[in-house]
Amino acid sequence: VRERKLVVHVIPFENRRQILVTHDITESERIDMMRRDFIANASHELRTPLTVINGFLEIATMQPDLDVAIRNSHVKLMVEQGERMQRLVEDMLTLSRLESADFQLRPERVRIHSMLSQIVQEAEALSAGKHQISCEIDGPDIQGSSDEIRSALSNLVTNAVRYTPVNGTIKLVWKNTQQGPQFYVQDNGIGISPEHISRLTERFYRVDKSRSRETQGTGLGLAIVKHVLIRHHAHLLIDSVPGVGSQFAVQFPSRIALLDD
Ligand code: ADP
Repeated sequence: VRERKLVVHVIPFENRRQILVTHDITESERIDMMRRDFIANASHELRTPLTVINGFLEIATMQPDLDVAIRNSHVKLMVEQGERMQRLVEDMLTLSRLESADFQLRPERVRIHSMLSQIVQEAEALSAGKHQISCEIDGPDIQGSSDEIRSALSNLVTNAVRYTPVNGTIKLVWKNTQQGPQFYVQDNGIGISPEHISRLTERFYRVDKSRSRETQGTGLGLAIVKHVLIRHHAHLLIDSVPGVGSQFAVQFPSRIALLDD
């Protein structure tokens, strides 16, 4: 049970009278805390690549005669860090757009077949032949935002590739269930211990920070997934065993299924 704190403000009114305003600050305190946390995390995430870039720029200024091979390797590292900052900023913008109250959902037919084919192609490019990827589609198109659904499903599939060692298998399924259309992606990767599962959709929450960075993660992917699913009245179901693998399933409500083309 959440504790509620009641605060009474006394506000002078028309020089004489006073009115009392009662206000539950627990919720606003919570939002404030989340905002502070987000700013602290985002600044920290941006500071690391910036420090690397500034360090190499300083070396370039101080040592103009640096060996070309060394200089090129510094440039390569700076480009990587620049790309990391770009991914972070793009994910932060996507999140803030999804959270903004006046950002309305514009529903359209989400063409599942072509969307999943594209997602599989991207996953194959990321995997570079290191995983076996399969996809079964036996369910209807849905009504929703194609861009948002693509970004959510693609985040789940990208994670499956990134957290599954070489030679692993990744299976994508789109089907119809009694509750409505369902998507799931199953991998036989590193898995997640139960204590982490409920926190995975928090912004910047990662089980293993260094691994997430190595695999180019921003720590915002599942937060984006969560917001897209909320907007589509869908649920995320996570089933995972460390060392065995994970399944991330998205259950859409049956009312958004489009049965005829
Ligand atoms: P990241 O950019 O770090 O991948 P996400 O929000 O997409 O951020 O995921 C949060 C964390 O959840 C990841 O850092 C990783 O620890 C864990 N995770 C997500 N998907 C999987 C998966 N398929 N297998 C194992 N761990 C996963």
